[in-house]
Amino acid sequence: MSDQRSPWPATISRLVGAVLVFAAVGWLLGQVTLAILLGTLGYLGWNLYNQALLERWLRDGRSLEPPTSHGLWGEIFNGIHRLQQRQRMRRKRLTRILQGVRLTINAMPDGAVILRGHGEIQWWNAAARGLLGLTWPQDEGQRIANLLRHPEFSEFIREKRDSASSITLPSPVDEDVMLEIRVIPYGLNQRLMLVRDITRLYQLERMRRDFVANVSHELRTPLTVITGLAETLGDTVPQQLPQATRPLALISQQTQRMQRLVEDLLMLSRLEMEQKPLEPKVVDVPRMLGVLVEEARALGAEERQTVTLDVDRDWCALGDESELRSAFSNLVFNAVKYTPADGRIDIRWKARDGAVRFEVCDTGVGIPAHHLPRLTERFYRVDGGRSARTGGTGLGLAIVKHVLGRHGVELEVRSEVGKGSTFACTFPPAKVVDCAATDRLSQA
Ligand code: ADP
Repeated sequence: MSDQRSPWPATISRLVGAVLVFAAVGWLLGQVTLAILLGTLGYLGWNLYNQALLERWLRDGRSLEPPTSHGLWGEIFNGIHRLQQRQRMRRKRLTRILQGVRLTINAMPDGAVILRGHGEIQWWNAAARGLLGLTWPQDEGQRIANLLRHPEFSEFIREKRDSASSITLPSPVDEDVMLEIRVIPYGLNQRLMLVRDITRLYQLERMRRDFVANVSHELRTPLTVITGLAETLGDTVPQQLPQATRPLALISQQTQRMQRLVEDLLMLSRLEMEQKPLEPKVVDVPRMLGVLVEEARALGAEERQTVTLDVDRDWCALGDESELRSAFSNLVFNAVKYTPADGRIDIRWKARDGAVRFEVCDTGVGIPAHHLPRLTERFYRVDGGRSARTGGTGLGLAIVKHVLGRHGVELEVRSEVGKGSTFACTFPPAKVVDCAATDRLSQA
């Protein structure tokens, strides 16, 4: 509530007083009407004069002090002046806050770039200047995709993905500097692009990958030699030394396991190091699954498992044949490994609404729900003992996840302990083709 008193009672009393004075003078002079008319004209003139003062003051805009006047007009001038001062204070406070925010963002070691609707650069901080080489004022208003020329980045910025996803790119200023870029939408059609220098992390990660790949590669030859020797000894020694049969069988079994491990590690390293995006080719998945099912039946024959196959023969996938074979075989052989005797394994490749779904359902041991989120981590095992008995490397699902990820497909797992598991993925319409049509094309 305003503590100012209302000027109206005083104004009205003054007005009534003036009318009375003019009326009295007019009565004394015998010209009441003329006197009141003159008084009204005077009052109008005074109002006009004050309006002119107000208009000039507002138009001029430079003078901070209001024009001097009395009565109601004085109050109006002072009121407007008070409003202006309040507005000025608020603007100053906002400017101070804005400067503080800018100083804070400028002090950040990470780059921050504010983008408008179509990716036009609006503002950037000091770190972004260094990491992206932005220059003022030339780059203001430019589209960020024109400055960071990278096909993956153009797609990333166009797709408007969620803020959790990021992209890793070399800096346009220095190819050896690796940047992690994240884009966060905010406000009305604005986006904040955060840029982080992850060169050290990237190098460490590359060292780790190189190390694993090199060690696996180096182990390959000695392992092949040991396996060969164990087989030769296994064929000859037991006849002279029967007690060596079991140790030799164990050596052979373990070296074979190590060989599988090395092969899986090499496959994972290759998938991780693959920088180039996939060059998709037509993969005849129905035929591939036919072969896989025969292998699975042979593997599960002892356990009397039933393996069924239900495929839509018309549909082929677009991708890399050997990678997909590796992923699908890991899922099928896992089902065989983790399904007890007399169990059932159903393999499907079925089209629905233009997409095609691959599914491996088993009536096996199942997986407790709390293990599911970590299942595709390397060497993660639900039951270490069982996995070791079945000869698993603990890398199968990690390979599956990588391969499917490279094909833009996500692995889904549903499982219930004691009832069985379903491992599935859906190839979207863009990743499948009509096998018959491609056959006709290749024959033409
Ligand atoms: P492994 O070589 O040990 O099988 P994977 O990466 O292929 O490694 O699988 C990880 C773990 O997931 C396995 O150790 C196993 O416990 C569990 N698992 C995978 N597939 C199945 C399945 N079909 N049924 C039950 N458990 C499974």
